[in-house]
Amino acid sequence: MNSLHQQQSTGRVVLPPSELELMKSSGKPVPICSYCHRVRLDNGDPWNQDSWMKVNVDLHKEPSISLSHGICPTCLKGIAPGVKH
Ligand SMILES: [Zn+2]
Repeated sequence: MNSLHQQQSTGRVVLPPSELELMKSSGKPVPICSYCHRVRLDNGDPWNQDSWMKVNVDLHKEPSISLSHGICPTCLKGIAPGVKH
């Protein structure tokens, strides 16, 4: 049973494999949201939720990718205002 492609839902964008390969080869740290684990596109606006995409793989297990932990706009709003680090 292959249910991998049944997980499509509106409003949720998954990072294309080609982008993942670019992230691997660039060697640059990949910004990742610590809360929802979306990653930000290299040229993406950090304050635009569209720049943050879901990934189907565990980036923590990708030796060629270094992660830069942050927070995406949606999760930022979900955190109580006034809580700052
Ligand atoms: Zn998030």
